[in-house]
Amino acid sequence: MGISENLLKKYAELIVRTGANVQKGQVVQLAVSVEQHRFADLVIEECYRAGAKKVNIDWQSDTASRLHYLYAEEETLSTVLPWEEEKAKQMVQDLPCRIFIVSDDPDAMNGIDPQKLSSVMQSRARVLKPYRNAIEGKHQWVIAAYPSEKWARKCFPDAASAGEAVDRLWEAILKTVRVSEENDPVQAWKAHTDFIEQKAAWLNAQGFTSLRYHSANGTDFSVELIPEARWEGAGAVNALNGAFYIPNMPTEEIFTSPFAGKCEGTLVAVKPLSWNSQLIEDFSITFRDGKAVSCSARKGQELLERMIHMDENAGMLGEVALVPKESPVNQCGFLFYETLFDENACCHAALGMGFKEVLPGGDDMSMEEAQKHGINDSIIHVDFMIGADDLSIDGIRPDGSAEPIFRNGTWA
Ligand code: ZN
Repeated sequence: MGISENLLKKYAELIVRTGANVQKGQVVQLAVSVEQHRFADLVIEECYRAGAKKVNIDWQSDTASRLHYLYAEEETLSTVLPWEEEKAKQMVQDLPCRIFIVSDDPDAMNGIDPQKLSSVMQSRARVLKPYRNAIEGKHQWVIAAYPSEKWARKCFPDAASAGEAVDRLWEAILKTVRVSEENDPVQAWKAHTDFIEQKAAWLNAQGFTSLRYHSANGTDFSVELIPEARWEGAGAVNALNGAFYIPNMPTEEIFTSPFAGKCEGTLVAVKPLSWNSQLIEDFSITFRDGKAVSCSARKGQELLERMIHMDENAGMLGEVALVPKESPVNQCGFLFYETLFDENACCHAALGMGFKEVLPGGDDMSMEEAQKHGINDSIIHVDFMIGADDLSIDGIRPDGSAEPIFRNGTWA
């Protein structure tokens, strides 16, 4: 069967116009798999139609990455070469619109020493993170997906052929990004983002000082919020040019960064977590004085422990997010093995780095400054799903009174 040219064009247009919202004269940095070169052409053309000055392309290959990890020395891979650093500097200068088309093979890193993966990641981040921090909030970006055969096979192991698996993954992706033959995706996204912004505005008006989570599976948790931090959802605004963009397609969440180091209790995951190509299943994390002090997993215990100890702040929360259980991602009913989708299935929290842009003036703050306000900083940001069907969340007001936010996994 395959997907029609018309749908592909609609999707490319949505990514460029609504997602990244490429402006006249902007440089675009496109990261896309070599396998998706045909779709890349559609995206590139649409960027130029939108007025892009230049579209730079970072061709990706899961297979090549795997080979690097398999054969090259850890020290070699950990070294950020001068030209790579120059490239990062150039990005700070250009502040390009960044478009990421993900079509990862969830098993790409299977069999690669997880220790090697994480230490390479840590070493490279030490050099490159300052540049990443320097462009945060000052450029538009979007992550969207394109199904690969390997990815589709992973999601649908029972499919009769690779083609059938890809068709099924396409169907799911297009449903979650609200693209169909009949509809106007740009209009559909307008309605969707309006709804999310209305909910975020309500939350912001409440002035909750903390959230309390409860569900029958053992989740019993409370977390303090940063008084001046805002709830955000769907879209973001580039502080430099005012362009409204949508960082994640799909997106269903309303999120904020909680007070790092101020939470208590246990969060129980309701879906498996895929990290560095490995699965962590049936797990829970217990926090004391704001830090993960213990965790237990039926599968992937060691991996989960390593994640929590990736750096000194990896065991603190950087995000809490609200997603009703009616989310189209949840309705698809399967694990995508890709955070972009899986984190939009239901309510979640994330270990690691928080978002300084939820603070007033946060875009112009250094990460060190944001940390003083309670935003966590870490080299990881890993979302895990806690949105049980019976989850209730209360917002606590300064006087101690509680207001229902979620009941039975959805807006109260
Ligand atoms: Zn999230």
